[in-house]
Amino acid sequence: MNILAIFAHPDDTTFSCSGTLARWAEEGHSIYALCCTKGEVGTLRRELTKKQVAEKRMKELMAANLIIGVEETIVLDYPDAGFINGPELREKLVFHVRKTEADRVVTFDPWVNYEIHPDHVVVGRMAAEAAAFSAFPLLYSDQLKEGIEPYNCSEVWLMGQLGHSPNYFVDISTTLEKKVKAALKFEATLELLAHLFAPNIDPANVSEDELKKLTKYANRLLRSMASAIGKNINLKAAEAFYVQKTLPGHFDNFQQQMSEMLGNPPEPPKIL
Ligand SMILES: [Zn+2]
Repeated sequence: MNILAIFAHPDDTTFSCSGTLARWAEEGHSIYALCCTKGEVGTLRRELTKKQVAEKRMKELMAANLIIGVEETIVLDYPDAGFINGPELREKLVFHVRKTEADRVVTFDPWVNYEIHPDHVVVGRMAAEAAAFSAFPLLYSDQLKEGIEPYNCSEVWLMGQLGHSPNYFVDISTTLEKKVKAALKFEATLELLAHLFAPNIDPANVSEDELKKLTKYANRLLRSMASAIGKNINLKAAEAFYVQKTLPGHFDNFQQQMSEMLGNPPEPPKIL
C-alpha cells in the first residue's frame, strides 16, 4: 500500500502516529509524509527569526522521518498559525493523493472537540476531503497529465480522540523505540512544551542542561502515553485511530449510521 500522512506542522506526524507509520514501513508499505507548513512560529524564543525557526524545524522533521522510514517528505510551505486557505489546500492535497496513489490517508481528526489550532482543523478536514474526492475525474481535471490519474483512496485514519472513541488500535510495541527516538529530534517542540514536563523551565530561554532534562521527561511521557493507550486492550504500547472507509465523495459509514440510529452499541474496536 501507499500511505500518505498529511499534517500541519513538522512535529505533528511524529508525535501523533509515527509508531504506526514505522510499523507499516517495516511491513513494506510506502510511507509519504506531507507537511503543510514549516512551523515557523513554533517557539517562544524572541531572539529567533521565522526563517531560523523554519530551518531548525525542517532539519528536525527530516531527521525524524529518516528514523520512521518515510520514503518521501513533501513540504507545502503555507504560513504557520491560521493562514491556510482550505479550498486551495484541498486542490494541492488531491494532487498529492493522486501522485502518490495513496490507498490510506492519515491525518488529524478535524471533528474532535477542543482542538484550538486552526491549522490542525483545516488540514485534517482538507486531507479527509482530498482522500474522498481524488477519484472524481472532472475535479481539478487540469492535474490529469504526465501520468497523474484520478485515484480512489480507500481509507482515512484520523488521529485525536476527544469526542468519539477509537475504532482501531495499532500495536506499536515493536516500533515505540523509533517513535521516541524520532520525537526527541524535535528540540524546538520540547522547548515550546517545556511547561508540560517541567514548570520551572522557561520555554523562552532553555539552557543546554535544561534541554537534556526536557528530553528525559519527554522520553518518559511518550512511553507512558503509549502504554496508557495500550492498557485498554492489553498491549504494551499502542496508538489509537478513528478509521473511516471512503467512497467517492463520501465516507462509507452508512451501515454504522443505521446501526447507531437504531440504538445499537458501537462495534468493539479492532486491533492491528
Ligand atoms: Zn501541529
